[in-house]
Amino acid sequence: MRYTLRNLMRKEMVTLTAYSSARSEYTGPAEIYLDANEHWTHYVDSDGINRYPDPLQRQLKAKLEETLGLPQEKLVIGNGSDELIDLLFRLFCQPYRDKALILAPTYGAYQVFADINAIQVSSCQLRDDFSIDFDRFEAICNLIANSQLEKGIHKLLFVCSPNNPGGTLVPLEDIKRLARLFQGIVVVDEAYYEFAEAKSAVTLMEEFPNIVVLRTFSKAWALAGARVGFIVAHPEIVQVLNKIKYPYNLSAVAQEAALAALEHKEAVFAGVRQTIEEREYLAKELSRFSFVKEIFPSRANFLLIRVMHAEKLHTYLREKGIIIRDRSSVAGCYGCLRVTVGTPLENQALLKAFSTWEALE
Ligand SMILES: *Cc1c(COP(=O)(O)O)cnc(C)c1O
Repeated sequence: MRYTLRNLMRKEMVTLTAYSSARSEYTGPAEIYLDANEHWTHYVDSDGINRYPDPLQRQLKAKLEETLGLPQEKLVIGNGSDELIDLLFRLFCQPYRDKALILAPTYGAYQVFADINAIQVSSCQLRDDFSIDFDRFEAICNLIANSQLEKGIHKLLFVCSPNNPGGTLVPLEDIKRLARLFQGIVVVDEAYYEFAEAKSAVTLMEEFPNIVVLRTFSKAWALAGARVGFIVAHPEIVQVLNKIKYPYNLSAVAQEAALAALEHKEAVFAGVRQTIEEREYLAKELSRFSFVKEIFPSRANFLLIRVMHAEKLHTYLREKGIIIRDRSSVAGCYGCLRVTVGTPLENQALLKAFSTWEALE
């Protein structure tokens, strides 16, 4: 790598003196806590809710290590992975100067958080089948390497695997190639990892310290409402992320919910298997409709389908009370709709609505 992790970071983040909360100064057990101006009682039925939560979520991290084998010193837990995407921009990208690179089409949040942080986004379009065009990627990396430093550096590359909205898995070999060609931080977003039945990019971090991996409790772990995500990263990155995050970024309620979910690992994995079966069933049934032109092979809990008259179909379903995602205006997704795999009953309702639409067409 041309840059070290440290000199990819913004200097003011590295030298920042973090807010020191009462709870981060004293962490051991005590009889009496009169240090944080909390109230001595609670009025809602939730034990410990009157107290500030652990800013470093140590119990949850220990549980993550025990359950998923992820080392605690490489973890930062966020208020959803959205918070961590925002923090990565703040840590690495100087507003109005540095840049980020995405493989399009992909998750819209990367662009939004880049905009909020005044970071320009360059885009490397994926092929029609959503595989990576390495000739194009290499050409972009060469352009980046030759552009003048005062014009800003491409600090972050976002690789979503399995990708949203395509559902495509990026093979680890491809991620390695990306990490060799790109001279900044490679952010591998594994929001749908559990559905992919594939090896995680976490296994590449030893060889490539510039790879960081995002995970979430919002999908397979069924906790979208609790807002819990985490990043696996080199301890040098973890240390600075911990300084710049909100001190109490995860509520006590969210920490409890994530801890409880990890207790139910087997049920979660069973739910994942059921979702995968239902996804394959749904793909097979959808392929029977004459107006369905293409179903992209998915390694996630959704299907991207190319249909005739996408917008009209989307509106028709909405009128029937079924909401799916219209991606037809996204470059590379012409005529495409994204359907989340639901319960068997919900999926049947969707198929029934498709049948009545076909009869109308
Ligand atoms: C759903 C999703 C997330 C999850 O975001 P949270 O803030 O953790 O809910 C992250 N990345 C991608 C690509 C997603 O589709």
